[in-house]
Amino acid sequence: MNVLVINAGSSSLKYQLLNPETGVLLAKGLCERIGIDGKFTYKADGKAAKNAVDVSMPTHAEAIQAVMDALTDPENGVIASMKEIDAVGHRVVHGGEAFNKSVLITDDVLQAIEDCIPLAPLHNPANLTGIRACQKVMPGVPMVAVFDTAFHQTMPARAYMYALPYEYYEKDKVRRYGFHGTSHKYVAGRAAAMLGKKPEELKLISCHLGNGSSVTAVDGGKSVDTSMGFTPLAGVPMGTRSGDLDAGILQYVMNKYGLSIDEMLNVLNKKSGVQGVSGVSSDFRDLTDAFEKGNERAGLAVDMFNYGVKKLIGAYAAAMGGVDAVIFTAGVGENSAAQRMAIASGLEFMGVKMDAEANKVRGKEAVISAPDSRVKVLLIPTNEELMIAMDTAALVK
Ligand code: AMP
Repeated sequence: MNVLVINAGSSSLKYQLLNPETGVLLAKGLCERIGIDGKFTYKADGKAAKNAVDVSMPTHAEAIQAVMDALTDPENGVIASMKEIDAVGHRVVHGGEAFNKSVLITDDVLQAIEDCIPLAPLHNPANLTGIRACQKVMPGVPMVAVFDTAFHQTMPARAYMYALPYEYYEKDKVRRYGFHGTSHKYVAGRAAAMLGKKPEELKLISCHLGNGSSVTAVDGGKSVDTSMGFTPLAGVPMGTRSGDLDAGILQYVMNKYGLSIDEMLNVLNKKSGVQGVSGVSSDFRDLTDAFEKGNERAGLAVDMFNYGVKKLIGAYAAAMGGVDAVIFTAGVGENSAAQRMAIASGLEFMGVKMDAEANKVRGKEAVISAPDSRVKVLLIPTNEELMIAMDTAALVK
C-alpha cells in the first residue's frame, strides 16, 4: 500500500510517499513559492533529485500535479501511475473539539475543519486548500485528515480548562488544545514497542523538543496533559516563542512602548524564546557555539529551556502519580546529548538515572538511561509522516 502524505502551508506544500506497512519512504519533497513563481524539490532513493527547479504553481493544484508528474516520471519516478497511490493523508493543524481522532474526509469533515478556522487562522485555511487541490487532481482517491490536536482530546477538563470566566469556554471554545499530537502519539507507540509493554500499561512523558517544543503526559496510551495550550505559543520557551508568561506583562509592555496587541503577539511569537533571551539565534546549535565562545546570554537561554522541560517532567510525573519512561524526540531531543543530560540529570530522586555513554547517540532509537534506572529514558526519532500514513491506512482499510 502507498500513502501520499501532504502537509500544506499557505505558499508551500511538503509531501512524502510512504508504505505504512513497511515504513519505507519511496519519495519526498517540497513545493515552495506557490502563488508566486513555484520551486519544486524531489528526492527518491537512487533516482536523480530535483532541487528547487522552477515549476509554475499559480495554485496548490499545480503543485500537486507537479508532485504527481515527478512520482510517475518514467525515469526518476517511483510508481507507474497515480493508481498506485491508495490514499492521501493530510496534516491538519486544528480539529478543535470536533475531532478526537483521524477521519476520512467527507463534505461534513471539510465543513468542520472550516469551522475550526478561528482557532487556527493561518494554518487551517492552508490545510483546506491542500485537501481541495488534491481532490481536484486525484478525484476518487480516499483522503484522511490527521489533526495535530486530536491526540490531546483525551485530556480531562481539569487539565484543559483555563481559570477564566466559564463562558469563554462554553461560548468561545477557549481551552487548552495542545499540538504536536501526531508526534507524541507516534513516539508513545514506539516507546511501548521498545519496552515490550502495551500502551495501556505505561505512564510516559514525551518531550518533543525542536524549534517548537511541547511536553506531554501520556497515561495508558492517552494524552492527559500537554504544555502547549489554546495556541502553540504556550509551554516551554521555544526558538522564537516565549512559552508561558504572566499575562500582566502584556499590559505593562504594551502601555510602555505603545504596542498594539498584534505587535505584542508578534514579539511573543517571533522575537522571544531563546532568540529573544540570547540575542544570538533561535537555533540551539548556534547557542551552544556562542556559549562556548563566552556568550553568557546564549548559555542562559539554553539553561532556561532545559529548566522549563525539567520542571514539566516533574509536574507530569506528579500529575500521573509516577512515570515509567521519559522520551526525547525532535531536533533538539534527537541530537543534543548535552541538553538531554542537562534536562534528565537531577531527577535521580524520582528514579531517573542517565547513562552518559548510552546517551552519546543521535537520531536513532536508544535507551539512554542506566540499566538500573527505575524510569527508562528513551531517544525516539519522531516520524509524523509515517504516523499520518499509518492512521490513513487504518481508516482506508
Ligand atoms: P525541529 O523543529 O524538530 O526540526 O528542530 C530544530 C531544532 O533542532 C533547531 O533549533 C536545531 O538547533 C536543533 N538541533 C538540531 N541538531 C542539533 C544538535 N546537534 N544540537 C542541538 N540542537 C540541535
